[in-house]
Amino acid sequence: MSQKKPEKLIDENDIRLDGRKFNEMRPTKIEVGILANADGSAYIEQGKNKILAAVYGPRETHPKHLALPDRALLRSRYHMAPFSVQERKSPAPSRRELELSKVIRESLEPSIFTEYYPRTSIDLFIEVLQADGGTRCAGITVASVALADAGIPMRDLISACAAGKVEGRLVLDLTDVEDKAGEADMPLAYQPSANAITLLQMDGMLTGEEFEQAVNLAMEGCKQVSQIQKDALRAKYTVAKEGEGEKEETEEGEEE
Ligand code: ADP
Repeated sequence: MSQKKPEKLIDENDIRLDGRKFNEMRPTKIEVGILANADGSAYIEQGKNKILAAVYGPRETHPKHLALPDRALLRSRYHMAPFSVQERKSPAPSRRELELSKVIRESLEPSIFTEYYPRTSIDLFIEVLQADGGTRCAGITVASVALADAGIPMRDLISACAAGKVEGRLVLDLTDVEDKAGEADMPLAYQPSANAITLLQMDGMLTGEEFEQAVNLAMEGCKQVSQIQKDALRAKYTVAKEGEGEKEETEEGEEE
């Protein structure tokens, strides 16, 4: 059962099917540290996307001959659960998942101080529980948070967001139906502190001018994503200032 293309993806008031404006991201929330058995983990919901990321390492590399003498080996696996899409997906890794595992690894590696941990490996697992377009970007975003949760030193968090073209309009953060029925989809990953793009792919056609505008739109989206990532990490790791905890304890005590 495949999704039917609706007649119009953007109405006469420039509002998209799910009620968003052209430059609006889907509602996004991130939770940090939700898997007890991984060294680091995070969960993201971006619109209907639901994705888990787990990180192990730095740890001894197996098999040993893959170990790198001067830096840690980053390995990543992007996988879509069989129940993540409307028609059951085979659990076996597809060509698409292999490609996404590679581009996700390459988009995250520039920010990691892999040289601090020679001969070790850092293993990253991205499990898509529910997919609705833009899962490589949401996967990169949540994986970067999971790496931070694992305590892996990084230059910055990597934030990702796609821009594209739907019915002649440039739009931010495409859903599955916008991706399939639209004219172009361009996922982008960004390292804000270095103002550096670490992933740029494109499916479809844009003019040179549209391409420039789409890159700027996606980078603005990434900056919003970056804030959500930082807020999620702060929510888990902010330690009460000295005295604040004691005060709360006394207040609780008073109430009893
Ligand atoms: P991304 O998820 O990064 O946008 P694609 O552009 O390849 O990657 O895929 C777009 C969307 O197509 C996915 O998010 C998912 O909703 C859907 N999709 C991908 N693979 C399958 C599949 N095997 N069966 C059904 N839908 C799929």
